[in-house]
Amino acid sequence: MIKTAPDQYQEIRDAVRALCTQYPDEYHRRIDEQRGYPEAFVDALTKAGWMAALIPQEYGGSGLGLCEASVIMEEINRSGGNSGACHGQMYNMGTLLRHGSKAQKEHYLPRIASGEWRLQSMGVTEPTTGTDTTKIKTTAVKKGDRYVVNGQKVWISRVQHSDWMILLARTTPLAEVEKKSEGMSIFMVDLRQAEQSGMTVRPIPNMVNHETNELFFENLEIPEENLIGEEGRGFKYILDGLNAERTLIAAECIGDGYWFLDRVTKYVNERIVFGRPIGQNQGVQFPIADAYIEVEAANLMRYKACELFDAGQPCGAEANMAKYLAAKASWEAANACIQFHGGFGFANEYDVERKFRETRLYQVAPISTNLIYSYVAEHVLGMPRSF
Ligand SMILES: Cc1cc2nc3c(=O)[nH]c(=O)nc-3n(C[C@H](O)[C@H](O)[C@H](O)COP(=O)(O)OP(=O)(O)OC[C@H]3O[C@@H](n4cnc5c(N)ncnc54)[C@H](O)[C@@H]3O)c2cc1C
Repeated sequence: MIKTAPDQYQEIRDAVRALCTQYPDEYHRRIDEQRGYPEAFVDALTKAGWMAALIPQEYGGSGLGLCEASVIMEEINRSGGNSGACHGQMYNMGTLLRHGSKAQKEHYLPRIASGEWRLQSMGVTEPTTGTDTTKIKTTAVKKGDRYVVNGQKVWISRVQHSDWMILLARTTPLAEVEKKSEGMSIFMVDLRQAEQSGMTVRPIPNMVNHETNELFFENLEIPEENLIGEEGRGFKYILDGLNAERTLIAAECIGDGYWFLDRVTKYVNERIVFGRPIGQNQGVQFPIADAYIEVEAANLMRYKACELFDAGQPCGAEANMAKYLAAKASWEAANACIQFHGGFGFANEYDVERKFRETRLYQVAPISTNLIYSYVAEHVLGMPRSF
């Protein structure tokens, strides 16, 4: 492993690493080949309490901050695993924690913390509106003590391996609200019940082993007590959770970045071509050094975002920039890693091609690079809004 300076989270790192070593490359490779879900790995992380890091102690979690949670995600990816199988559990519950009623928190959070329930899914994206979230067409209409949901979502992850999903739907038509961000609400959806009564799940085969789906809603009834917070304020609630999500994803990319750097550094030191290690060539050294510098720099921005978040300070710019820098750095590291493995980079047994596919996702999801540029240009630098 390449050297990284010890930090104050070393104890957490060591403990997560120790758990992860029980799930070696072969395990993750087999799950990827089978397009399976790493049930045993996610269960072990849950039983050890890592998935409940951000849940306050009064609800059965460990009440840690985003810094610590991000270290957990980083270590999973650095070990060769893919936090994409379980990161939803970390940030989705934040929405419930911040905006749920006392009764809702008491109902859901201890069960999520214990692992009895998984809250791995969040349903926002729609096929016809994409990133333009305020135009979503899925509606939830109040009828007596229920909301009746109709519409469609796309790319909704981990639905088949979660018990609950947070769903964003329009409760007031766009034409009737003053601001386009108003009139949307969020709900807790009991996924197994929904599949029996108005929700159809169609899996989307995709480049990564990432369980993601199209969802179709036809008169799905949700009890009114499953509304989180106030009706009409759901979009704001979702936005409140995005900083944590982006920072955690940044940490995953940093874990990937170090994984690629570990592997490629070892390989280029050992691989002999033209009678010397390929790592002796500056043409090989420089792209790897470049990627290392970028991963280290992204790491600083990740901690800046985490620390602001944990201090309750605004961190939109830092969370977005951390996600941007880390996704870019891990992709640079991935490219150097696959390039200098030569043909072996493409062999499944080296795991490089798997991690290469996995880390590519983060240029697009959960927010594309262009939308981060747009955020920084308009919200940080004060340029006119483009949409
Ligand atoms: C594997 C996977 C898992 C996912 N999981 C979830 C999930 O669990 N829940 C969920 O709700 N969503 C999920 N998503 C959806 C994801 O958040 C979106 O794919 C992402 O936000 C981009 O939206 P889109 O695909 O509709 O792209 P579009 O909005 O159609 O944009 C396509 C591209 O156009 C560019 N673009 C668009 N608008 C602009 C603009 N104004 N300026 C400049 N460039 C622009 C961007 O580069 C963008 O990449 C997932 C996606 C994938 C691939």
